[in-house]
Amino acid sequence: AGQRKVGIIGSGLIGRSWAMLFAGAGFNVVMYDVDSAQLDGAKVSIKQQLNELERQGLLRGTLLAEEQFSLISTSENLSEAVKDAIHIQECVPENVDLKKQMFSKLNDLCTLDETVLCSSTSCILPSKIFTGLRRVSQCIVAHPCNPPYHCPLTEIIPHPETSEDAVQRTRELMAKIGQEPVMVKREIDGFALNRMQYAIINEAWRLVEDGIMTPEDVDKVFTTGLGMRYAFIGPFETIHLNAEGTENYMQRYASSIRRVSSSFGPIPTFDGKTLEHVEQRMASRIPSVPDELNKRRQWRDDRLVALAKLKKQM
Ligand code: NAD
Repeated sequence: AGQRKVGIIGSGLIGRSWAMLFAGAGFNVVMYDVDSAQLDGAKVSIKQQLNELERQGLLRGTLLAEEQFSLISTSENLSEAVKDAIHIQECVPENVDLKKQMFSKLNDLCTLDETVLCSSTSCILPSKIFTGLRRVSQCIVAHPCNPPYHCPLTEIIPHPETSEDAVQRTRELMAKIGQEPVMVKREIDGFALNRMQYAIINEAWRLVEDGIMTPEDVDKVFTTGLGMRYAFIGPFETIHLNAEGTENYMQRYASSIRRVSSSFGPIPTFDGKTLEHVEQRMASRIPSVPDELNKRRQWRDDRLVALAKLKKQM
């Protein structure tokens, strides 16, 4: 009793993860979806996942898996799902028109003045979905990283008209459920995660396209090198530690960074012979069919769980 309520709109992969995260912190969670089969599937899958997390000692919060599960309910009625919610997390498919329609409905249906309307969008700018809404000052994007339960990063991107209070409350809420909020202070295409990820994909692709490296060896640069470090320290700390501090690093290496960077080629088109080649190399190891991809995704998630466990112990 007395727990505060969060509404989750869309009960697919990301909606399910948010439901588990909010329940972990003791919130009452109501999930809404247009597809009732998705809601049924979500309950089954969440129960299974919470039990498995508990078995592995990775459950967040202090409540038992069973208690967390009992905090999560479903509804096929949107106004019921959002009624009295302090926070609404939208997780419908990545489509501007669909999200715009959804936020317009949420704007009208939410019942509390304080409710924050939050989108999980991976790459739609806040101004494309929130502009013109009466409650625009309480609209914001919180973009999680997949799988959210094991990769706690959440990018917070306000609309230009989002109030400082709504920003603060969203950050605090994310921290409270054990996520790691980072601020993208002004909206920018790709937010932070995808801007950096795309910089990497661009160079990886060029190294293969130019015949300098195989796709397998490019991947190893990450799995055995950069990625080993990046699980613990980011690019700025890497710089700071790789010399006698940041200033010293730049005295030594700024000219190299500028020289190498000026040799980066144009943005690849990601098609033609290189695409065929990369697909063929990748599919020889992981065939591009659902069963094989799912097996490998399961393997990836198991590795991430092991890493999350390690980081928790440190
Ligand atoms: P998904 O396809 O797994 O789930 C979408 C759910 O929304 C489905 O259950 C669907 O039935 C439901 N839905 C469709 N139309 C609806 C409507 N009008 N009202 C209510 N529910 C509706 O998608 P997902 O992977 O969970 O992605 C959801 C959002 O999260 C997207 O904006 C995506 O960009 C973002 N996101 C995804 C990832 C990822 O790795 N999958 C990571 C971060 C953010």
